[in-house]
Amino acid sequence: MPRVLDVNRRAAPHRSLFSLILVLTLLASSCAGRRSGSDEATQRLRDALIDGPARSVVLLIGDGMGDSEITLARNYSAGAAGRLEMDALPLTGSYTTYAVQEAEPYLPDYVVDSAASATAWATGHKTSNGRLSTAAGSDEPLQTIAELVQQKGLLVGSVTTADLTDATPAALVSHVNSRRCQGPRDMGQCPNRRKAAGGPGSIAEQAIDHAVDVLLGGGKARFDQPIDAGPDAGRTVIESAVRQGYTVVTDAGGLAASTPGAKLLGLFAAGDMSAEWSGARAVTYPGSGPQRCKEGQRPAAEPSLATMARKALDLLDERAASRGFFLQIEGASIDKQDHAANPCGQIGETVAFDAAVRVVLDYAAAHPDTLVIVTADHAHSSQIVPEPLLYGYGGLSPGLLSTLITADGSTMTVSYATAAPFGVQTHTGTQVRVAAQGPGAADIVGVIDQTALFHTMARALGLPTSVRSTKP
Ligand code: MG
Ligand code: ZN
Repeated sequence: MPRVLDVNRRAAPHRSLFSLILVLTLLASSCAGRRSGSDEATQRLRDALIDGPARSVVLLIGDGMGDSEITLARNYSAGAAGRLEMDALPLTGSYTTYAVQEAEPYLPDYVVDSAASATAWATGHKTSNGRLSTAAGSDEPLQTIAELVQQKGLLVGSVTTADLTDATPAALVSHVNSRRCQGPRDMGQCPNRRKAAGGPGSIAEQAIDHAVDVLLGGGKARFDQPIDAGPDAGRTVIESAVRQGYTVVTDAGGLAASTPGAKLLGLFAAGDMSAEWSGARAVTYPGSGPQRCKEGQRPAAEPSLATMARKALDLLDERAASRGFFLQIEGASIDKQDHAANPCGQIGETVAFDAAVRVVLDYAAAHPDTLVIVTADHAHSSQIVPEPLLYGYGGLSPGLLSTLITADGSTMTVSYATAAPFGVQTHTGTQVRVAAQGPGAADIVGVIDQTALFHTMARALGLPTSVRSTKP
C-alpha cells in the first residue's frame, strides 16, 4: 500500500497543477452558472407574485393525491427526472388536512375523509368526517364558496370523474350531515333532510336546486331517482333539472355538441366514470408484476377529465363574459384506485388529472386573470418501496406489492399497507402539496391549513371573507 501512495505522490506535481486548473475552471463556471441561475429563479418567483383580484378561480383537486401518488405517476409516466404538468406551477406549499371529532369538535381527527376535507376549502371551516358543509356537533349549515360566488353574480362549475353527488363535488353545493345521502332514495342517514320532511333534499336535488351552471361527471343513477315532495314531486332529479332550465347530456358526443346558453348537466356513467388504465392489483409478497399498465381503457362514449375540463372552461368563459367564474375540477379516482390497491388504475387517473391541469394552464395562459390552484384533499396509502426480490427479506413488506416497469426502463415497487391484505386501503394523515399560479397565488406558499384555501379563493374573487378565522 505505501508503494502505491509513493507512486501517486511522484506523479503529483504535474497532476496537481492540472487538477488545480480544472477545479478552478469548474468552480468559476459553476459559480457563474449558479449566480445567473439564481437570478433567473428569483426573477421567476417575483413574476409569479401577482396581486388580486382574479376574474376566475379554477381549483383542481386530485382526490387522495399525496406526494407518493404524484411521485409514482411521475416516475412511471415521465421518468424520475421528468416533470408532470402540475410540477410547472411556480408557487408551492403544503397544507394540513385534519378533520375534527363529531362529539368533541375541538379535538382533531388526524385522518380526514373527502367530505370533511372538501368542506374545509368550500367553507373555511373544519368539520367531522362524513359531513358536507355542515358544522360538527351543531349540524349548522356552513355557507360555501359556490354560494358566495353566485351571490356576487359569478358563475359556478363542477367537474368530476366520480358521481356528481360524491363527497368532493357535493361539499360545494349541498349541506348534509352524511355524504351517503346522494339521491332521494338514499336518505337513511339524514331523514330530516328529505324534501318530504321539509328539508333541502338529497345531494343530487341540492346540486340542481343550487343552479350550478356546469355540472359534469358520473352518478346518473342518483339523478334518475324520483323526488318525494315539492314542485317536482314524482319527477326524477334529471326531470327536475330539465324543468329548471338544464340541458342534459349523457355521452362524449352530447358534451362536444353543447353550446353556451342553458345550464349544462352531463351525466356520463351510472356511478363513477371508467378508469383510464388497468393492470394487475397489488398482492402479498412478492407482489404482482413486473408489469406495464394497459392504457386507453376508458370507453370512447365517456369523455376524459381533460375533455370535460376544456368544455367547462369554454362554456363558463363564454357565459360569464366579464363576470368570471369559479370552477372545481376533480380527479376522483386516484383515491378510489388507491383504496383498491390498483397501481395502474391509480397512476392512470393521476396522469389523466395531469392532462386536465395542462388544459387549465393553457386556458390561464390566454386568461392571466385566472387563479389556478392544484392540490389534493388528503394523502393515501401507496408508497414507493425497495423492490422485494432485490432486497430479499429486507424488502419483505406486510402490505400488498406490485412492481411496475417505468418510463425510465427501470422497475419501481409500490406498497399498499394501510389495511389487512383482504381489506380496503385507507387514507393517511400527512400534509399534502398545494401549488398555484395567478392573482393571489402567493397565499398558498409555506405550510398552511386547507381551510385557508377558502379565504385565498374568496379574496381573489372579492367575496366577503369576514367569516371567522381559518382556525377550526
Ligand atoms: Mg372525491
Ligand atoms: Zn377515499
